[in-house]
Amino acid sequence: MAHRTAQLAALAERPPASFPAELIPLLGVPDLATLTPDQAAGRACVWGGARLQLDTAIDLGETRHDGVRVFPQSCGPCVAERALLALAPHSIDCEPCHDRERWQDCPIGGGLHRLRVEALRLPRPGDAR
Ligand SMILES: [Zn+2]
Ligand SMILES: [Zn+2]
Repeated sequence: MAHRTAQLAALAERPPASFPAELIPLLGVPDLATLTPDQAAGRACVWGGARLQLDTAIDLGETRHDGVRVFPQSCGPCVAERALLALAPHSIDCEPCHDRERWQDCPIGGGLHRLRVEALRLPRPGDAR
């Protein structure tokens, strides 16, 4: 079946709207093989498993696993927590991140901080079921 068009490939590389795509690998998205069908479809948070509302979910970038399109998404609180966890190991070796005047200019340190602030503004999803 030759269904794979250039258009589909472009769609698959759509970056998340809300933050720089280069930060995603730092957040440690769970192994795609371990996601539940709801998580793979973007209906549940990939970390906490909470049900997501489309308008408050954070898009972690559509990807492919075993030839199937996967749509990992997260709730705000989980992304905020992951951003904080990613910040510590990064800043150990990052000189700008140790500089009070410049740390916001670091694309990673500043980026993770802004992501965290943004994510904390999102409403919490209902309890995980
Ligand atoms: Zn979550
Ligand atoms: Zn840095």
